[in-house]
This record gives sequence, C-alpha cells and structure tokens, in this order.
Amino acid sequence: MQETRVISNIQEMQALADKVRAYGKKIGLVPTMGYLHEGHSSLLRAARKVSDLLVMSLFVNPTQFGPHEDYETYPRDFERDRLIASSEGTDIIFMPVAADMYPKGNTTWVDVAGLSDKLCGQSRPGHFRGVTTVVTKLFNIVKPHIAFFGQKDAQQAILIQRMVQDLNMDVRIEVLPTVREADGLALSSRNVYLNPRERQAALVLSQALNLAQGLIQKGERSSATILSKMRELIEKESLVVPEYVAIVDPITLEDLTKISSKALIALAVKIGKTRLIDNCSVLL
Ligand code: AMP
Repeated sequence: MQETRVISNIQEMQALADKVRAYGKKIGLVPTMGYLHEGHSSLLRAARKVSDLLVMSLFVNPTQFGPHEDYETYPRDFERDRLIASSEGTDIIFMPVAADMYPKGNTTWVDVAGLSDKLCGQSRPGHFRGVTTVVTKLFNIVKPHIAFFGQKDAQQAILIQRMVQDLNMDVRIEVLPTVREADGLALSSRNVYLNPRERQAALVLSQALNLAQGLIQKGERSSATILSKMRELIEKESLVVPEYVAIVDPITLEDLTKISSKALIALAVKIGKTRLIDNCSVLL
C-alpha cells in the first residue's frame, strides 16, 4: 500500500492539483469531517475507482456549527482516520487549519437561498451557508473533476447539486447510498455520543422511514396520513424528541401534500443531546 500523504497547506494542494490536471489526470474529492466510518469508506472506494488522484479532505468546519453546537466536542481521531483512508487507497488527506481557511477579514459566503433555510436549516440557521461555502473553497483548492457525497445528508447533497448548477462549477457530483448498521441505524460520526439506551431508541428513525415506505407500497399517497403514522411511532419512544418529519420535493424541498412521483422523506430528532437525521427517497 502506498503511503497516504497529508497536506495542510492550501497553496501546496493547489499546486499539486494544477500539476495533476496538466498531465490530464482525474482528481476525485471526498469531503469529510473525519472520525471515519463505513459510510465514508464507501465514498472513498467509489472515488478510488474513477480517480487518478484521490483526495479526502478532513476538516471540521467551524462555520457550519451554530454557537451552541458540538464544534469543540465533535469526535476527532486523526491516526485512525489516516489508517482507514490509507486502507481505501487515498492518495492525499487534505487537512487545512481553520485559521488558513478563514483568515481574518474574510467576508464572502456562498448561500443557496431558499433551500438553505428549509428542513435542517430551520433549527440550524447558517449551517448550510457554512457547508456550501466550505465545499466551494474545497473545490477551489483541490480542483476535483468529481466529488462524492452521501445520501445520508440528503439536504446537503441537494444544495450542493443546486450550487454547482447555479454557479456553473466545473465538477461532477456523485451521491451514494446511505450505509447502515445491520439493525438499520444510519452510520454517523455522532453515533458515538449515544449511550446504550439512546442507541436502541435511535432505531426509531429507520423504523419510521420503513413504515412510510411500507404504506406507500400498499398504495398510500397522502403525506398527512403517512406523516401522522410516522409521528405516532416516533412518539412511542420517550427518549426521542422529533424536530421535523417531512415529505418534500427532492429538488425544491417544498412540502408535498400527495406523493405522485419523486419524493424525499426526511426526519431529524434529538435523543438526549444528540441530534440525528435520516431520510429515504421515493420513486413511483
Ligand atoms: P461528514 O464527515 O459527516 O461530514 O460526512 C462526510 C461525507 O460522508 C458526507 O458526504 C456524508 O453525507 C457522507 N456520509 C456520512 N454518513 C454516511 C452514511 N451513513 N452513508 C453514506 N455516506 C455517509
């Protein structure tokens, strides 16, 4: 296995990207905040297949955390991340420091207006502005031909696709399926926050999505009916506080009253101090 190289310097990364592009080679980027799990690995594996240079960015981005969120305590384990990234054949870990990414006086933001304040944006004002800004910066630094994101963060993937289209960014976006534990819980770096009782209660997210899919399979098309059954199931779990449960158009994120073709079913809950999200796509 070739040693994975770690680059922290922005100009060094840009110079390498220019060189690789000048040789006509393809750059693939997998943006992450680290504390890697099988979800990240699935992105790295897909990226490896189509990239001459595979770059994984590892950056816990301060601008996507609210003032009372878990930026300081977000799980970090660089040595473990480096081992996992290497084992998936990652060529470069791009790991910038926050002070270089956001030097004093920086004042420019990328905001996907309208979409960024829906769903998760309602309880996390500024979150998606932080995401789309850092992803833009990563695109400008790593200069990928293709970048990989997980369906797990469906709203994030939708916003990034919108941004790339709206701003004519010359990068292809690939969105890959959510990787789950055997019992259905979507993998997330934040799952380590859960104690055993909370971990058990967290199963209600995927169960509620399965319930919705079952109802749709049986012919139910009314969002109100499906949502009320999902909420009923979630409310049975006393440790779980729902934040939103929604059935929306997967492009505009507008609520759908009836499911007629494509839909995104998404939910966010709080379990103790941990906020968890999950979603599934419906295609009739
Ligand atoms: P994060 O490190 O949590 O910012 O995630 C980095 C990338 O991995 C994002 O594109 C996520 O959507 C993706 N990701 C996170 N969890 C999963 C999962 N369980 N399955 C697939 N992709 C995931």
